[in-house]
Amino acid sequence: NFETRKLLSSTINTEKMSREQLAVQRARKSFQTGKSKPLEYRLHQLKSLLRFITERRRDIADAVKRDLGKSENGTELFETLGLEGEIKLAVEKLAEWAAPRPVEKNLLTITDEVYVQPEPLGVVLIIGAWNYPWAVTLQPLVAAIAAGNAAIIKPSEVSSHSSKVMEELLPQYLDKDLYPVVTGGVSETQELLKQRFDHVFYTGSGTVGKIVMEAAARHLTPVTLELGGKSPCYIDKNCDISMACRRITWGKFVNCGQTCIAPDFVLCEPSIQSRVVEEIKKCIKEFYTENPETFEDYGRIINQHHFKRLMGLMEGNTVAVGGGSDESQCYIAPTVLKDVTAESNVMKEEIFGPLLPIITVSGVDEAIQFINEREKPLVLYIFSNDNKLIKRVIAETSSGALLANDCLVHFTVSALPFGGVGKSGMGCYHGRHGFNQLSHLRSCLIKQLNMEAFNNMRYPPHTAKKLGW
Ligand code: NAD
Repeated sequence: NFETRKLLSSTINTEKMSREQLAVQRARKSFQTGKSKPLEYRLHQLKSLLRFITERRRDIADAVKRDLGKSENGTELFETLGLEGEIKLAVEKLAEWAAPRPVEKNLLTITDEVYVQPEPLGVVLIIGAWNYPWAVTLQPLVAAIAAGNAAIIKPSEVSSHSSKVMEELLPQYLDKDLYPVVTGGVSETQELLKQRFDHVFYTGSGTVGKIVMEAAARHLTPVTLELGGKSPCYIDKNCDISMACRRITWGKFVNCGQTCIAPDFVLCEPSIQSRVVEEIKKCIKEFYTENPETFEDYGRIINQHHFKRLMGLMEGNTVAVGGGSDESQCYIAPTVLKDVTAESNVMKEEIFGPLLPIITVSGVDEAIQFINEREKPLVLYIFSNDNKLIKRVIAETSSGALLANDCLVHFTVSALPFGGVGKSGMGCYHGRHGFNQLSHLRSCLIKQLNMEAFNNMRYPPHTAKKLGW
């Protein structure tokens, strides 16, 4: 009969389905049961995610060590600590975030119930990058779970050890249907992108960002794109240069410069260039010893492809500090390049490695012009004691975020929306911003079927008498 035929054909279709299609279909079916919506359920999953990070700390650190040569403490500091903070915040604030949000009413609706009700979007695709393979993949997941969605988690194939551990261990903690991990490379990601999602959350390069957005557009699916770019760092000659360089050295060379929010290049006046070089040199020695190659807190370039790309970017520039490398180990020393020109290759793409070019400018006017002539960066850094100068740079430029007198730390402030603008990305997350990003903020207006006198004036005929004009 018809029912049996329908059932059979759906079984046959399922058999023909790819692993990616199947995962999405299961997630959608599971989402449609309403399972992920109750707050108690979301809290339970968030707490399980927290338990995963606590209990599997060692597995996570081992995987990151194998992927990026990072020390266990380094992974704790830069991957899991922030993740744990985001989960704890979501657990603490979920009831508040998910509650109806009353809004200001107008005269026509004064007696009504008018509010915004956040609701889950549905099935979210999370595509992660390799540089902080846990943080950039699981932090969006925190937002997806908190907002009541299902989510397909696609870690980067480039950080293969982390990806494998995530695939093997995460399903032991989270609902397998609602939050499956789908591993694979370009073809698997593209197969996933053919499916219909309710949101795609992508972290990675702008080139792939365009592919993701194009694929999502076919289904009219909204996207969040967490991209990169060249984040400038202006050092004002009147600031405490030694302190500035200490913070810049940290922000640039952590994770071997493979940080989306790392300062990409320095802008400063010619008169302070050699001082900047000397101060950074001192800090590199202090942080990573004379020989960073054998020091456990200095990692490695992710793979040969990126190693060769970075060595290519170094070519034709004056090395002021570092410059050493070992291809067999994907090691590149913390390196400072001086007197770099705007036309140099190293200024044509995001560096994403331990090379810090210094470009000299005549002062803040030229620095602002230099920044504004280029794509809007993910972060703009300024080091200065002059608050007016800082405020002027804020007023006259644009970037995903602006940080004065420090590096990277804005990432740790959950109350700040984290994201880019223009070519550095769209949409944002962290804390409540992530919850909002992966929710539909539904407008609700509830009127009663009485008090019709209030409404009479809107019904035709619109006579002047009735309107009181
Ligand atoms: P990547 O190579 O790991 O790619 C990112 C994701 O895209 C992966 O999951 C990969 O499977 C997928 N992908 C790659 N090629 C694809 C294709 N042709 N079609 C479909 N999917 C594809 O990472 P990456 O792009 O080298 O990451 C580095 C970039 O990410 C840098 O630009 C960095 O600034 C940026 N980044 C941004 C943030 C942020 O929060 N804004 C964080 C980390 C990294």
